[in-house]
Amino acid sequence: MPDNNLRNVLQAAFDHALAYREHADEGPVAPLATVESLRARLNVPLTDDGADSIRILNELVAAVEGGITNNSGGRFFAWVMGGSVPSSLAADWLTSAWDQNAGAYDVAPAAAVAEEVAGEWLKDVLHLPHEASFALVTGCQMAHVTCLSAARHRLLAGRGWDVERDGLFGAPAIRIITSTEAHGTARRAARFLGFGEKSITAIPCGEDGRLPPEALEAAFSNDPHAPTIVLLQAGDLNIGAYDDFAALIPIARRHNAWVHIDGAFGLWVCASEKLRHLARGVELADSWATDGHKWLNVPYDCGYAFIRDVEAHRAAFCYASVYVAASTGRDAIDWTPEWSRRARGFATWAAIRELGRNGIAAMIERTCDHARGLVRGLGALHGAEQLSDPQINQGLVRFLDPRSSATPKDHDAFTDRMTRAINASGIAMFSNTTWRGRRAMRVSVCNWQTTAEDVRRVVESVAGTLAHERRSTE
Ligand SMILES: *Cc1c(COP(=O)(O)O)cnc(C)c1O
Repeated sequence: MPDNNLRNVLQAAFDHALAYREHADEGPVAPLATVESLRARLNVPLTDDGADSIRILNELVAAVEGGITNNSGGRFFAWVMGGSVPSSLAADWLTSAWDQNAGAYDVAPAAAVAEEVAGEWLKDVLHLPHEASFALVTGCQMAHVTCLSAARHRLLAGRGWDVERDGLFGAPAIRIITSTEAHGTARRAARFLGFGEKSITAIPCGEDGRLPPEALEAAFSNDPHAPTIVLLQAGDLNIGAYDDFAALIPIARRHNAWVHIDGAFGLWVCASEKLRHLARGVELADSWATDGHKWLNVPYDCGYAFIRDVEAHRAAFCYASVYVAASTGRDAIDWTPEWSRRARGFATWAAIRELGRNGIAAMIERTCDHARGLVRGLGALHGAEQLSDPQINQGLVRFLDPRSSATPKDHDAFTDRMTRAINASGIAMFSNTTWRGRRAMRVSVCNWQTTAEDVRRVVESVAGTLAHERRSTE
């Protein structure tokens, strides 16, 4: 018997989703609803009895109006957020419909094999060592936790300490050496794993945003034998800087350190022959964390961890499960911090199939070109300046307070005001940052749909907003 209710509610969801995606270009990019209005609409009285599912769905769609950030469209340039290529969005829907628990092969065999294949494809596309193991996790934050759990195991095992059995109380202290540009998720991973933030030594970067090799060497000399993780960056948030892996990793190796790479988005240049040189030497590391939900344009809930030391990876997570007999396939429970988990391999499998190696490379290169076009176009406007020319898909623009008495603080405030005004205009969405003591508007292009026409429209519209804001400030 067909379930008419299920059919109708899924059809309604399909219609709503399609209407949203097909008309997303017409509405504002930034969410312009106020928190009060969202609360008023969503915080309906909780009832004792349930209600009709189609009615609920329609109510939900109406209630979130203006509160949905349009990062699935081509004019979203805030933070580092991707959209979703069609097949990966569709595969993600099916993932929910199939509702698999992808913790173990026996529980969800097709999901396990899709992950297995996706993991191999990812190593191929990213030019990572074939022998590396992998894990599909919720995002780069958890990929750090996954990789650094393996690092913790290996470094302590090397000192005769079994961290899985004996924990960290009394264990030799592990230190983390990184740069001041390291992402906040590295700090949180250190917290989750019991290292504490105090274990982190953050070395100031040079003008180029990279960790200076002599400074790394000097950091080791403080305590040459401490078990150490060196955490390097492939693509920082502000200017897309890459640490000099080819110079840094051999230094870390000489001190028996574990080298972990934060490549949340930046690792994806490895998919492009034209851009791969930026990450030269990255394959020499021990572990790599990246995202599918950023530059690969897979829907959210998609991060990837890769670990060269397969044994350390497995030792950190393996759980002699009592209710899942040793199975013939891959049990994700042995490779991730999760237990029950989403079958997130399907969406990745679909995205890689849809794009192919060339399509991924083209998407990475195209978004870099558009970032350059945007930053140069905006930076050339009267009253704006470009702070960094994007070498990948990230750049910075600053807007100048037109008053002759304006101080750097006034330019900071004017830059924040401009970003708010652009976002309020609906044409695009940007976010701001403080870079080298100055406020700047970040330009980040990650979406597969962004076109040269989007770039042109946005620059033209920002020119109008800037002229208006300057007039009302003078
Ligand atoms: C986004 C980002 C992260 C965190 O990734 P999530 O997927 O949000 O967990 C880590 N590092 C860098 C450089 C990032 O841009």
